[in-house]
Amino acid sequence: MARNFSKAVSTTMNVFHCDHCEQLVFFENTVCVKCGNTLAYLPDLRDMGSLNPVGTGLWRSPLPRAEGRLYRLCDNYTQHNVCNWVVRDDDPNTLCQSCRLTRVIPDLSQPGNKESWYKLEVAKRRLVYSLLALGCPVESKDDEPQRGLAFEFLADPVANGAPPVLTGHDDGVITLNVAEADDVERERRRLRLHEPYRTLLGHFRHEVGHYYWDRLIKDSPLIDDFRERFGDERQDYSQALQQHYDQRPRIDWQQQFVSAYANVHPWEDWAETWAHYLHMTDTLETAAACGLALRPRRADEPTLKSPPLRFLLHASRHSIGSSTTGSRSPTYSTISTVAWDYPMATRSCSRPRLSRN
Ligand SMILES: [Zn+2]
Ligand SMILES: [Zn+2]
Ligand SMILES: [Zn+2]
Repeated sequence: MARNFSKAVSTTMNVFHCDHCEQLVFFENTVCVKCGNTLAYLPDLRDMGSLNPVGTGLWRSPLPRAEGRLYRLCDNYTQHNVCNWVVRDDDPNTLCQSCRLTRVIPDLSQPGNKESWYKLEVAKRRLVYSLLALGCPVESKDDEPQRGLAFEFLADPVANGAPPVLTGHDDGVITLNVAEADDVERERRRLRLHEPYRTLLGHFRHEVGHYYWDRLIKDSPLIDDFRERFGDERQDYSQALQQHYDQRPRIDWQQQFVSAYANVHPWEDWAETWAHYLHMTDTLETAAACGLALRPRRADEPTLKSPPLRFLLHASRHSIGSSTTGSRSPTYSTISTVAWDYPMATRSCSRPRLSRN
């Protein structure tokens, strides 16, 4: 199944260039460092491009594919500098497709919250980019109150004894604690909770996995396949979670799960597998887009697909003396678990009749 990854669909984070001067630019850039032109990401073209002003708040892209189109910069670009996406002029929204998913932002009067919000939006745009590339439905709760998606970025309450904000998903609302955008605080939590790949993007990918399970698997004909692969999700979730935190992870979790946390409950196994799949394909395809290739000597040797590149990355970590303690050593069994998830998720997202609550 893994052999068909790039043929079926691409989630590639492309290598982008300024269309004005051919300078290599990043997905987050707002200005070309070489020619000084305004840059933006054009979601309708899935590309970064330079922009020329053509009137009050209106811009045109010199890309041939954008001929006849006018754009506005997202309000979060012009007013807060936390976004670099555009909105088509014929779109009544003032916020871009990613920003309008956020319905609660941190209190910007508090020190550090503006930078945290920026980091959260950067990670969310990468998530949205991949979801759209996969063909997953990405609708805001404003547009689709029942089935849509929303993000709330909340800070812990200052009152003594008040419960902290927990990162999680509930009926299409993904909540993230703003403290996770603080690199030091997130690293502290990562070590305490033994989560080797705790990142903002990792949080988003995991939590949105729960959202798509609700939307695409629950109450769909895929539920039987799901239970066969991941187990019966009707087992008591709270009890399973408590058991996870009371006990050490089972010592053989690497043989069956993509992470120790995936062992908690079938819902978590799904979300972890979903997140790992996005991590793997994004990394592999980005490497391929950068020109990294392995040239086999024999026809039956692998090219640049999962096992050899994972070997290369893993070997590289060892070469620089990085410890593997506490992190997952990739095995062929865990790779094939994720590989199963790929076509299933892709098919699910592409089938409108499964787009239900
Ligand atoms: Zn340029
Ligand atoms: Zn935006
Ligand atoms: Zn979860």
